[in-house]
Amino acid sequence: MKKICVLPGDGIGPEVIDCAVRVLRAASGALEFIDADVGEESLKRHGTYLSKDTLELMRSCDSCLFGAVTSKESLDYKSPVLTFRKELDLYASVRPVRSLVQISGRAPIDVVIVRENTEGMYTQDEVFDDKGVTTMRRVSKKASERIIKFAINYALTNRRRKVTCVHKANVLRSSDGLFLAMFRELMKSDGGGLEPAEQLVDSAAMKLLTDPSSFDVIVTLNLYGDILSDVAAGVAGGLGFAPSGNIGPKCSVFEPAHGSAPDITGKGVANPTGAILAGAMMLRHIGLGTEALSVERAVAGFYSSGHLTVDLGGRHGSESFTEHIIKSLKS
Ligand code: ATP
Repeated sequence: MKKICVLPGDGIGPEVIDCAVRVLRAASGALEFIDADVGEESLKRHGTYLSKDTLELMRSCDSCLFGAVTSKESLDYKSPVLTFRKELDLYASVRPVRSLVQISGRAPIDVVIVRENTEGMYTQDEVFDDKGVTTMRRVSKKASERIIKFAINYALTNRRRKVTCVHKANVLRSSDGLFLAMFRELMKSDGGGLEPAEQLVDSAAMKLLTDPSSFDVIVTLNLYGDILSDVAAGVAGGLGFAPSGNIGPKCSVFEPAHGSAPDITGKGVANPTGAILAGAMMLRHIGLGTEALSVERAVAGFYSSGHLTVDLGGRHGSESFTEHIIKSLKS
């Protein structure tokens, strides 16, 4: 049995994770799910957004499935997501975005955004003085090398043809310059025939909208990857569509790319596609590739047979969507 730590979190997190767990149970009998608290529920029960016990459980399981937490704006707030990424050394964020539905006026998209997950703008290190606030943005040789090697390996393993480095080295000459130089070096030494490409982050955002097929795998820094993956999800139909994996040498956490969406919480309309596809990514990561493929096929089949979820103007809410997927897996 593979042990999966389930962290539903806040907002629509518990709604979409419940759908994903039901689908995963239907896809495989080899999974044991262990529930844990994160976010508001954890604060209520344990006085902290992420307890040491939960972190230990996450470490000890084969993988984790996480919903979302609502970020707070207060200065003393410490994000549980950034904490578990750091504590579990989940250095690679992988966000595959693929069109499942033809959206009018938008070109089909099939990209994988590989994002450095441990440093860049996300060091949570901000210094106040009488002139203003300075945010520390770290780009290290070690982290850059590790994520670029990960992206190359991902592209080769998944039979992708091209890796694009997205950066802003024309302005951030030392930091993004280091990332870009590392990309050029590693594509030469380890690229294994993959086509290398480079793009400034601003034009990459525009090209994702106007010419998404010019991208295949993107490797980029933390904040750029965060923003570009939402742009890509928008091209595919909305935030509800994209899954995401946070991967490290020992641990992994899979989640939908969207946040807690408080505006639609409790309405039964959250699209669980991203959460279910995150579950499929998790299955593949823990060695259940055949089961992963059946889940992905069931999801693709729902859309290709003309059904639409509420976020796309259709009538299928979370429950009816999930029932369709389970029924399709069982048949
Ligand atoms: P957070 O503070 O947790 O990031 P947010 O509402 O600012 O929450 P998201 O949760 O990423 O950010 O969502 C932005 C908007 O996208 C939501 O207001 C919601 O309307 C829509 N959305 C996000 N996820 C889904 C989903 N699974 N299904 C349908 N709509 C969604």
